[in-house]
Amino acid sequence: MDIELSKEDLDFEAEVRGFLKENAYTGGDAEAWRMNWFEKAREKGNWDVPKWPVKFGGPGWTPNQHFVWQKETARAGTPWDMPFGLSMLGPVLMAHGSEEQQQRFLPDIRARKVNWCQGYSEPGAGSDLASLKTKAELSEDGSHYVVNGTKIWTTMAHIADWIFCLTRTSDAGIKQEGITFLLFPMKQDGVEIKPIITLGGSHTVNTVFFSDVKVPVENRVGEEGKGWTYAKGLLEHERTGIAGISNSIVALEGLKNKARSVKRGNGSLMDVPSFRAKVAELEVDLMAVEYTELRSLATASAGTAPGPESSILKLKGTDIQQRIQKLTMEAGGQFSAAWGGTNAGPDFARAGMGGYMSSRVYTIYGGASEVQKDIVTKKVLGIKSSKK
Ligand SMILES: Cc1cc2nc3c(=O)[nH]c(=O)nc-3n(C[C@H](O)[C@H](O)[C@H](O)COP(=O)(O)OP(=O)(O)OC[C@H]3O[C@@H](n4cnc5c(N)ncnc54)[C@H](O)[C@@H]3O)c2cc1C
Repeated sequence: MDIELSKEDLDFEAEVRGFLKENAYTGGDAEAWRMNWFEKAREKGNWDVPKWPVKFGGPGWTPNQHFVWQKETARAGTPWDMPFGLSMLGPVLMAHGSEEQQQRFLPDIRARKVNWCQGYSEPGAGSDLASLKTKAELSEDGSHYVVNGTKIWTTMAHIADWIFCLTRTSDAGIKQEGITFLLFPMKQDGVEIKPIITLGGSHTVNTVFFSDVKVPVENRVGEEGKGWTYAKGLLEHERTGIAGISNSIVALEGLKNKARSVKRGNGSLMDVPSFRAKVAELEVDLMAVEYTELRSLATASAGTAPGPESSILKLKGTDIQQRIQKLTMEAGGQFSAAWGGTNAGPDFARAGMGGYMSSRVYTIYGGASEVQKDIVTKKVLGIKSSKK
């Protein structure tokens, strides 16, 4: 793919840089700045929803414009944004939601007014997601479902207003059938949330228990029993986002600068051939995956789900993120072990171990790497299992 930037692309790049500079955070109320940033981005030309198709208010950018945007925003840093509504549920509603649901939910997602969480995984259903058991029973009068069951690893459930949730409405047929995609508020009776503290020491994930939660039928997305199809499309969007290629490009530059600041003999750690070789290998892999991302951006700008190729991005992108964290920890040497300490070694080393520990999850969430390899083998390379 040609990623030579045309004159128009370069003009766009300058415009994006100008916008990011003008609207950079300069202190004060961070939340007010965040909301204002999205408003300004919207006024600028729907830059607040870069990946949404034009029909739903997106800017209609070319793949190269997306590429420029991702790189520049990764470099400049943009306000924090949760992907669940904007990049995951949004595209599902656009493709499979009713017009009423699109009008009801998309504006608040766009305005970052409502936080969503993803209720897919269960204690007995992670990689084998289709085995999920959270039950949704339709009431006799057909007006609502009653949901009972447990979800686990639910990111940000403790701050979420709503959940998009996979439920089982039938046990007949193969397990992928009989799954129904429901939307309901988190702050209601019958929803209990318990925190899970991860290896990195933070609280982002939770176990969520549902006891007789009533969900009106109008909150069902698409047809009953067809939720698996919608869920898969959503996962493809999720995997593309998790790959985080542009952030890795910036993080790799950061890693090089950190290594340059560590003295070794007459030079720096970056002059040590074994370390340098690892950085070079990482950089080459990153460039290769960047091209794959461009292909995926071309699909996204046409308004379709990214397809199974998103598994390549997830697989390679998360491997690269972990390698960056590992080399950062290595660059900090023994000081990285002083997790959160304050009195020795380079500043960056204090976050080294925490970053490394937290990065272990990248190859698990959004579908474990082994499972992504399986998808790539079957759906991208077309190799069939030898098992009968
Ligand atoms: C930090 C974090 C945040 C998360 N956020 C969410 C969220 O918001 N919402 C949500 O629904 N879920 C979330 N998840 C759950 C995540 O999607 C699952 O953890 C993941 O799909 C793996 O499932 P599991 O944990 O049940 O592991 P298992 O499926 O039990 O897998 C255990 C191991 O077995 C391997 N394995 C399983 N099947 C195969 C196979 N067929 N071939 C080869 N190897 C295999 C796996 O690769 C893995 O190494 C999150 C997880 C983490 C860690």
